[in-house]
Amino acid sequence: MTVVACTFGAPAASGETEELLTVARKLSASRETALRWLVAGPAPRPQLEELATAYGITTIDHIDDPELEAVAPDASVEALAQYCASRPPATLLLSQTFDTRLVAPRLAGRLNATVMMNALDLEVAGDALLVTASAYGGDTRAVYELPGDRPHVIAIMPNATTPEPPPDAAAGAAPVIEDVAVDLSAVEERIRLVERNAEEGPRLEDAQIIVSGGRGLGSAGNFALVEELAEALGGLAAASRPIVDDGWADSARQIGLTGKIARPALYIAAGISGASQHMAGCAAAKTIVAINSDPDAPIFRYARYGVVGDCVELLGELTRALR
Ligand SMILES: Cc1cc2nc3c(=O)[nH]c(=O)nc-3n(C[C@H](O)[C@H](O)[C@H](O)COP(=O)(O)OP(=O)(O)OC[C@H]3O[C@@H](n4cnc5c(N)ncnc54)[C@H](O)[C@@H]3O)c2cc1C
Repeated sequence: MTVVACTFGAPAASGETEELLTVARKLSASRETALRWLVAGPAPRPQLEELATAYGITTIDHIDDPELEAVAPDASVEALAQYCASRPPATLLLSQTFDTRLVAPRLAGRLNATVMMNALDLEVAGDALLVTASAYGGDTRAVYELPGDRPHVIAIMPNATTPEPPPDAAAGAAPVIEDVAVDLSAVEERIRLVERNAEEGPRLEDAQIIVSGGRGLGSAGNFALVEELAEALGGLAAASRPIVDDGWADSARQIGLTGKIARPALYIAAGISGASQHMAGCAAAKTIVAINSDPDAPIFRYARYGVVGDCVELLGELTRALR
């Protein structure tokens, strides 16, 4: 039975597609099963071919249906269920996004499959699959054993893995693209997207340097200190959830379980306590630097470098020194 990596529309600029194809390729290699890349929705074929060639994918199944152009959970579930009825996968992998959270569990219900969200790593153990996933709101990592007697739908967390094309893939043959027809005429969307924040400019998920501020900043105006240091370092500013909730920073800046998951080379956390839900979004950073006035703050358990002090004072000093 096949491993299917499923993406929606044009490949995401953030590298999510590359991460998913990497996980799928490794899983199909360990299982010694076929690998297919299912693209649901209109997408530029040259871009699909280029990525597939680079990542050693030989078959792309393309549901080029305009109904799947915008966010459409009901149509997506129906399209994927019809696809799986004609080509039953052993494992269907998706990148975990706000949209696929609406799709994966319902698809699994339709397929009578196991569903795993928040997956970070997959390992084959005989017929079973061991899935390491973030659990209890990011407090812990749990390993789940999925028996091999039914299909699995698994959503992989962004930045859980580093994209890794196989060394010999680029020289491989161009992939075969198969058109898959589905009938979505009876689908009525039950969820209507009323508003979505348009994100512009560089994304936290891709940033190499992030300066992040928390409640220890003391006031909304002090978030400017975080932005100034980020700019001086050529990085991006980010925030903990409470200061987003209080309107000190835009929601697109939130790092954590219910925000963005980043994997920068450098993460400077200023006035952030280090709650597990925040760390779920930044613990994979290569180097964490913490500035906190409380020497017992949990963030120091994660930080390679820690400064016990007033972040309001230190952020300004650091920016001045850099400038
Ligand atoms: C289901 C769920 C999902 C969540 N998702 C997220 C999420 O995605 N992202 C997120 O961030 N949180 C999330 N949270 C909230 C999370 O549990 C914490 O409450 C939050 O991360 C704390 O934010 P903070 O560190 O800014 O504030 P606090 O916990 O209040 O910490 C402030 C820190 O600043 C320090 N400080 C105070 N003054 C100064 C100063 N002058 N200089 C230096 N340090 C100072 C304090 O010692 C303290 O350590 C979630 C919670 C739940 C239940």
